[in-house]
Amino acid sequence: MVLLLVKIKADLENITNLQPTGGSDGSEFTYYFKIKCSSCGTLSDKGSTITASEQYPIPKSRGTAHLVQKCKACEKLGNISLIEGHGKPYTAEDSESGKFVPVACFDCRGIEPAEFIFRDGWSAEGLSGTKFENIDLSDGEWSEYDEKASESVGILNLKHTFDITK
Ligand SMILES: [Zn+2]
Repeated sequence: MVLLLVKIKADLENITNLQPTGGSDGSEFTYYFKIKCSSCGTLSDKGSTITASEQYPIPKSRGTAHLVQKCKACEKLGNISLIEGHGKPYTAEDSESGKFVPVACFDCRGIEPAEFIFRDGWSAEGLSGTKFENIDLSDGEWSEYDEKASESVGILNLKHTFDITK
């Protein structure tokens, strides 16, 4: 079993508590990855998604996982499950110190994320308390105007890394 933490880092401008929360309509957050086979290292062609409420049966087992996928090269079956409670909001202080902070944790068996793809469903708070929802980070950056504080807010230089723990 490999536990993989997705850690992020960004330059936050007048904003804090960046986190994956889902859409403003109450829809769930969807994690997007490029997956790699742990046995032969082959990358999957397309992105794979993981959402907390969607579980799939693992063949030849009684268990379920949030993602069950077969390697197109060696045909080994692998699975990934989201482990709740390991992420925390990325704060203005984290941004100042320039460190990577875990936002999510996954239990990976036979396959593992090779790349984390930023999309929508993020939320954050302006330093004035204004809430920003369903932030789309597909471009690797985002900016908006905080009416209450009369200042611009933004997310820049977005990066991610994976940390493997056992
Ligand atoms: Zn493979």
